[in-house]
Amino acid sequence: MASLVPPWPIRISAAGTKLARGKRRRQAPIKIEELDLNRVRMSLPKTEVKRGQEFQVQQTMGNAAEEGKTWVCPVCSLSITPGVIHTVAWDVHRGVQTRRHFHNHCWKLFDGVLH
Ligand SMILES: [Zn+2]
Repeated sequence: MASLVPPWPIRISAAGTKLARGKRRRQAPIKIEELDLNRVRMSLPKTEVKRGQEFQVQQTMGNAAEEGKTWVCPVCSLSITPGVIHTVAWDVHRGVQTRRHFHNHCWKLFDGVLH
């Protein structure tokens, strides 16, 4: 009979395991970190050259002030709905007034001529 009793105190080790597991799970907010990284990447403008023209390029989802607004993509003539991540680009030398909204894939196809 005595040989069936385990040589360690079950009650204490079980409680200890439960606490440690709960703590570890709460310390890993991986998804939140990824979202923050995306936001940083989206807000950083970069310069791209198309056919010798320099463009300032930025990814955007639109903003609160422009809510309800749709844009017409100059490449495919289809509208871009707010909340969809798309590309905003303008001619660096002609200025921000040449700013246009493109679908991400349309920007890649764009030949560098803004009308
Ligand atoms: Zn398009």
